[in-house]
Amino acid sequence: PPDVEQLGRATWTFLHTTAAYYPERPTPVQRSNMLSLLRSLPILYPCSWCASHLEENIKDHPPDVSGRLALSRWLCERHNDVNERLGKPRFDCAKTDERWKDGPAD
Ligand code: FAD
Repeated sequence: PPDVEQLGRATWTFLHTTAAYYPERPTPVQRSNMLSLLRSLPILYPCSWCASHLEENIKDHPPDVSGRLALSRWLCERHNDVNERLGKPRFDCAKTDERWKDGPAD
């Protein structure tokens, strides 16, 4: 079975970075592809208990693919839900761009 921690770090890196560079005004095609990407995770993610937690979480909190800031915020909150469940500290969602896009100020 895969290393769930390494898989998690790699997946969060991919998802947060992709959200950080998602357009502020996505085209309908970009929106529908982002929605497909997110909706496929509960079906394809190779950690079955992670996938089923995510499926339940997405039912309560449908993805917001309307633009970069909304998507980044939605994803940060979903990651915080996992952090909370695992007893890890919550991340300050105001720092999402600093962590995943811009880097620290000077
Ligand atoms: P990670 O949680 O992997 O975070 C990587 C980096 O992201 C952090 O160092 C920090 O800089 C940044 N970060 C942290 N929180 C946020 C946030 N809210 N927003 C933006 N950036 C942030 N593991 C399990 O054991 N059980 C599960 O059920 C489970 N479900 C998962 C579901 C999904 C969809 C994914 C992608 C992963 C899941 N994992 C699960 C893995 C788990 O979330 C961690 O990736 C893993 O435990 C490694 O944690 P870490 O402390 O190295 O940092």
